Amino acid sequence: MAFFNDAPDRYCTSVPLRVQPQMPEKRERSKAHTSDHLFLAGSPCYGLAVGRRISHSKETNLLGDERRRIVLPRQGRLKVGIGYPNRYHVALSSLAYQWVVELAAGVPGIAIQRFFAPPDCLGRTLEDDTPLASLDLLAWSCSFELDAVNLIHTLDAAGIARRRQDRSPRDPMVVVGGAVASINPLPLSQAVDVFVLGAAELLWPQILELSREEPDRDRVVAELAGRDGYFVPSHHLDGEGRPLGRLRRIEKRDPEMNDPTLVPSSYMVTPNTEYRNRGLVEMSRGCPEKCRYCWVSYNYGKLRCYPAEAILDRVRGLVKITDRVGFVATAVGDHPDLPRILSESRDLGFNVALSSLRIPAMVPEVLAPLAASGARSVTIAPETGSDELRAKLKKPIPNHRILEAVETAQACGISSLKMYFIVGLPGETDDDLAAIGGLLRDSRAIMLSHGRNRGRMGTLHAGCSVLVPKPYTPYSKAPVLSQSEYRRRMSLIEKELKPIDNLKFDRPSYREALWQAILSRGDAQTFDLIEELADHRSLGRLLSEHKHTVVRRAMESVEGEPPWRFISSAPSAKSPALSD
Ligand code: SF4
Repeated sequence: MAFFNDAPDRYCTSVPLRVQPQMPEKRERSKAHTSDHLFLAGSPCYGLAVGRRISHSKETNLLGDERRRIVLPRQGRLKVGIGYPNRYHVALSSLAYQWVVELAAGVPGIAIQRFFAPPDCLGRTLEDDTPLASLDLLAWSCSFELDAVNLIHTLDAAGIARRRQDRSPRDPMVVVGGAVASINPLPLSQAVDVFVLGAAELLWPQILELSREEPDRDRVVAELAGRDGYFVPSHHLDGEGRPLGRLRRIEKRDPEMNDPTLVPSSYMVTPNTEYRNRGLVEMSRGCPEKCRYCWVSYNYGKLRCYPAEAILDRVRGLVKITDRVGFVATAVGDHPDLPRILSESRDLGFNVALSSLRIPAMVPEVLAPLAASGARSVTIAPETGSDELRAKLKKPIPNHRILEAVETAQACGISSLKMYFIVGLPGETDDDLAAIGGLLRDSRAIMLSHGRNRGRMGTLHAGCSVLVPKPYTPYSKAPVLSQSEYRRRMSLIEKELKPIDNLKFDRPSYREALWQAILSRGDAQTFDLIEELADHRSLGRLLSEHKHTVVRRAMESVEGEPPWRFISSAPSAKSPALSD
């Protein structure tokens, strides 16, 4: 997890659900999500219940519903607001957000309050309605590009100028961390004083300590500009918003991974999150694979696992606030001591869930305890239907291995299945798309045979997204699918899926994917578009009005050195657990 947690927005497998990101207006239409689903580690944390409008009486109970492991300090020399550019429900579902709040609470002399995007907080803090403009520092954990507009809405509601050049020294310093900062901070560079590039544990306390001791914000910002791990637009960009040099991300290495005080876990639980009173514990960072579309593998470095004993200590720390625990990471199933951690957690009386499992980790030793804990659904991300294209993605898992994983899950009693696919992959052919239907048909057949024996069929659900080329991945310069080609390919897939009984298929939003791609690869001028959207324009209208400029460019291969390419990737680091 990098600062405020960097969020992979693609996952391999999750138990029980991988949550798809949604735009704010779409979230408002979403149905309340009531099942026992777990948000993913560092995920964009956009939930199906994200848009649920919390009733007035519910809002007044948000604080009262919280059961906390630590108390947040309310007195201190430096007054800090820690926010999330989305609603309370989404923010507190994010272990990353919870972790940066806890890290701040560990720095002496800091008074902490929390805030969220409108309508949950209208420019004021949740705790006692303090105006955000009266605080010394506002920090956002921002995991997903589409939330940039919510950050602007929060500034508007607080009466704080959107652009840093229009703010006075009396306004709070604005800090942003999380995946958005590390993937490409340029689109928000006109609004933000300091971006944090990397691990919160190593970088966030430094900002707080410096700001507590030095009241002159310009001096704080200048000091941070000279340290690794921070992007300070006023120092690191030229007058046109172009980077003046390269900057470094800072990631946790073996010594920090072995420090038991630096294992992120929930500081509170509440029923008002996606996973309802479940405490989360992080298991590892990085990934053993390097899938070519995935930002995680190219930026978090190799898989590094926390020691099992340190993880179990965190689990024990949750005993007084909950009896439900979820383990999160990009590759939870790759922890070498996972069976022991699951078994000891269950011995402590916990109901256990996992976030993401790679397909090779779907073995009985892992799935059986999950099923015993009540998991009834597993999510797999084959990404495409054919072995050939999957190998080109550097995800060399053949269909027969995927079907074995389906079989294992069914045999363990996990009856429902969700599969994720990507359309618009470089080199994708119509045969690859047709093969998606074949893989789903074969999976359905396995589910049917187990369902007959059990006397109950699970549900089969297929989710699909459009490839968003991410900076620093091998696909970073790839064109985004055109809308006409998107329609043609979706029709082809839907024709293949039609004969499959009781299959639920989610068609992705083309507009959201296109907008996300524009933000992912944007420059400092992209902030103008974010402002246009914030000024209550619909996304469709915005994209239509810019179809001959940024939209057209998004559908072309990127030529030359792109503006966002100024942040170094994460270093590789050997896992202490794996090296034993
Ligand atoms: S690189 Fe790792 S986290 Fe990313 S999709 Fe591949 S296996 Fe999953």
